[in-house]
Amino acid sequence: MAEIIAFIGLGNMGSGMAANLIKNGFDVRAFDLAEEALARAEAAGAIRAASAADAASTADVVVTMLPTGKHVAAVYNDEIFAAAKAGALFLDCSTIDISTARRTIASALDKGFAMADAPVSGGIGAANGGTLTFMVGGQEDAFIRAKPILSAMGKKVIHAGGAGSGQAAKICNNMLLGATMVATSEAFAMAEKLGLDPQIFYDISSVSSGQSWSMTSYCPLPGVGPKTPADNDYQGGFAIALMLKDLKLALDAASSVNASVPMGAQAESLYQVLANKGEGGRDFSYVIQLLS
Ligand code: NAD
Repeated sequence: MAEIIAFIGLGNMGSGMAANLIKNGFDVRAFDLAEEALARAEAAGAIRAASAADAASTADVVVTMLPTGKHVAAVYNDEIFAAAKAGALFLDCSTIDISTARRTIASALDKGFAMADAPVSGGIGAANGGTLTFMVGGQEDAFIRAKPILSAMGKKVIHAGGAGSGQAAKICNNMLLGATMVATSEAFAMAEKLGLDPQIFYDISSVSSGQSWSMTSYCPLPGVGPKTPADNDYQGGFAIALMLKDLKLALDAASSVNASVPMGAQAESLYQVLANKGEGGRDFSYVIQLLS
């Protein structure tokens, strides 16, 4: 019999992820505070639950995809721990602070459950298309149990290490992404001021040592490189508000271990300027507008 999966948090990311579990034959019990999200999950074939505890009560595996660490701690401590079946596996796919991830996993293990943090890389398109990358933090046996479930929602599932390691990998990756996008943007803006045709600069740099994903897969300049949110007035894609959230998590984590992250800090302050200007909903490549 297919495993029963409780899916809690069916927003932009969770809705596509839950739909892919259903397509892959899992029996999904869904809960979200928002009626619209619940109705969408039901239309995709999930069974509606009355609460997070209700969803978890019959599940072999609980997947959460919630906004922040505060939401994750509350849902596990107030609902899931008390309701779940003995031996259930919990997978938190939200992007949250490492300390909440570690604390929640420690509590789960204490109570006889298995749990891993499993944040994702890839946006809403990858969530809908089942092509996410999962970075998993937790014990080996939890990873082995999680792999077939996560594989139904993604193309890569990588064991990053012990509890919280998935979150550590996620924020280090996104700090690098934020910094390379700023660096790519300033290089394009300066190249133009120096009289270079942006397309010619792209043709040179994309096959030279300045090349990066931010340049060749996500060029911040409209009309240059592949089609990106820059070609759509910086709509869609990965919102500045979400990049800022991840950079703040990265800076907090850096200060907790005395890591020196000047590039990450600079990126955070530039994205904060954009958020303060009311541009938090635009794609993060919009940072080029600050540098032009
Ligand atoms: P979202 O706000 O669209 O969805 C979150 C959902 O959680 C909402 O539907 C909300 O109603 C629900 N929710 C909140 N509290 C709840 C509770 N107590 N019980 C049940 N449901 C509750 O957010 P999203 O874009 O889907 O992101 C989810 C997580 O994934 C975040 O941690 C985000 O940082 C991360 N992430 C997002 C993207 C992206 O491109 N959107 C990419 C990678 C990672």
